[in-house]
This record gives sequence, C-alpha cells and structure tokens, in this order.
Amino acid sequence: MSTAGRLSGKVAIVTGGGSGIGRAIVDAYIANGANVLVVDLPGRDWQSHFKGKAAVMCLEQDVTARDAPDNVVGACMKAFGGLDILVNNAGIAIGAQFEETTDEQWDRILGINVTAIFRLSKAAVPHLRARGGGRIINLGSIMSNTAGPSLAAYGTTKHAVAGLSKGMAVDLGKYKITVNYLQPGSIWTALSQPFFDDPNFVKYWEAKAPMGRIGDPEDVAAAALFLATDEAKFVSGAGIAVDGGAAVNF
Ligand code: NAD
Repeated sequence: MSTAGRLSGKVAIVTGGGSGIGRAIVDAYIANGANVLVVDLPGRDWQSHFKGKAAVMCLEQDVTARDAPDNVVGACMKAFGGLDILVNNAGIAIGAQFEETTDEQWDRILGINVTAIFRLSKAAVPHLRARGGGRIINLGSIMSNTAGPSLAAYGTTKHAVAGLSKGMAVDLGKYKITVNYLQPGSIWTALSQPFFDDPNFVKYWEAKAPMGRIGDPEDVAAAALFLATDEAKFVSGAGIAVDGGAAVNF
C-alpha cells in the first residue's frame, strides 16, 4: 500500500527537528505531503539537511525563550497560513545521580522538556481550533512510566509529559484536537550517544528489547506519522511505546 500523501494539505510544526527523531519526523511528514515549520536552536548548521525542500521552513529558536510561542506560531502562520499538527519533540537528557543533580540542571530540563510544551501548545490551540481540529504529539519516553539509573530528573520530565498529554487530551477533545505522547525506548541519536558510549548500556538495551536491537529515529517517525493522520482521529490521551517491546520485558 502506498503511504504517500497521507498528510496532503496539512501544516505541521516540529520542534527540535534539526536532528535525531525530530528530523526523521519532518522527513516522514514532507514525504507524505505536509508543509513543516522546523524549529531548532541557533548555532548549528542543521538547516542544510532541508536545503532545496520547498515544503520546509526553518526557524532558529530556543523553545524556552519567553517569546518562543509567539515567534514559532507566528512564523508558521506567515509561511503556511495555518496549523494542523504540533510535534513537541525538542528535549534534552541529563545523566546524573540524584544527589549530584544541580538546581540549574533541574530547572533547565524542566524548562525544555515540560514547560516549553505547555507554553507552545497553548499558543497553538487557537490555530488548531480554527482548522476544526488537529493533532498534538509530545515526546515522552519509556521513562514516562519507568525509571533508570542517573535519570531521576529526565524521568520526572517524561512522567510530566504523560500527565500533561492526558490532561490536554481531556480538555481539547471537544475541539477535535487529539493529544498523544510517544514513548521511545533506546534510539540511536545525538541525545543517547553519551549513554551508548558505554558498551554495556548498548548490550543491556539490545537484550531488553525483544526485537533485539536499538531503535532508529525512523521507527519513532513512523508512529508520529500515524498519529498525525486522519486514521488516528479516535486515538487520544495515549502513550504509544516504540521500544521494540523493552518496557514489557521483565
Ligand atoms: P537529539 O539531541 O538528536 O534531538 C533533540 C533536538 O532538540 C536537537 O536538535 C536539539 O538541538 C533540540 N533542542 C534541544 N533543546 C532545545 C531548545 N531549548 N530549543 C529548541 N530546540 C532544542 O535527540 P533525540 O533523541 O532525537 O530526542 C528527541 C526527543 O525524543 C526528546 O524529547 C527525547 O527526550 C525523546 N526521546 C529520545 C530517546 C532516545 O533514545 N534517543 C528515547 C526516548 C525519548
């Protein structure tokens, strides 16, 4: 079955779309006919990947900045005249033992992984409503309902993503806006690379996932594509595991 065109005529915003999972989501969306505003931090040449792709507009923007919601939504309206799908993907991981986690690290990770989702989603809702409905897809994690060593702060943010997504799903359903969160397991990206530098970490996750491997960003993008389509119109408030079965393997 051809899957091209499943997002024809749709407009998406993908934060953190300059690398890893976010970039794979942007590629999947434009391959399926969407126009996408890609948002990522200034200072790195992430835009070159999208050069020559007319369906993509790039915006250098820190999602934690005070004016980020207005800037992001404003840029999307200016470029594409509407909004159907918001993917809150930008995120960081901090690997630190609980007693060594600093206040500064705590504030930073909460700001990017949680507060920025709250603020940008609020700015997006009037525009989704204006289109008669839409999709909000947040990046949770296998850590949205589990924990791991040196990941207390990160796990807190991903549990918060689950709670926020469920609450938004309840409040926004009346506008035909679905809100879901993805729960990737271990995926090869820049974020996970420092953890993968430890060969025991790789071995652990390869064994934990019944599929026997670390995931690729494209594995997660396939689920993000499904959630964005019309076929997913009755899926809301759900956490979708994309972890090769790791979370259920004890
Ligand atoms: P990544 O580092 O490759 O990509 C994250 C992107 O977010 C980067 O391009 C980064 O520049 C951007 N970003 C970070 N802070 C930002 C800010 N303040 N403003 C704008 N952009 C910002 O990592 P990834 O693995 O692709 O992560 C994407 C999402 O997936 C994250 O929310 C992460 O927590 C989640 N996730 C990843 C894994 C994994 O194993 N890689 C597992 C579970 C969940």
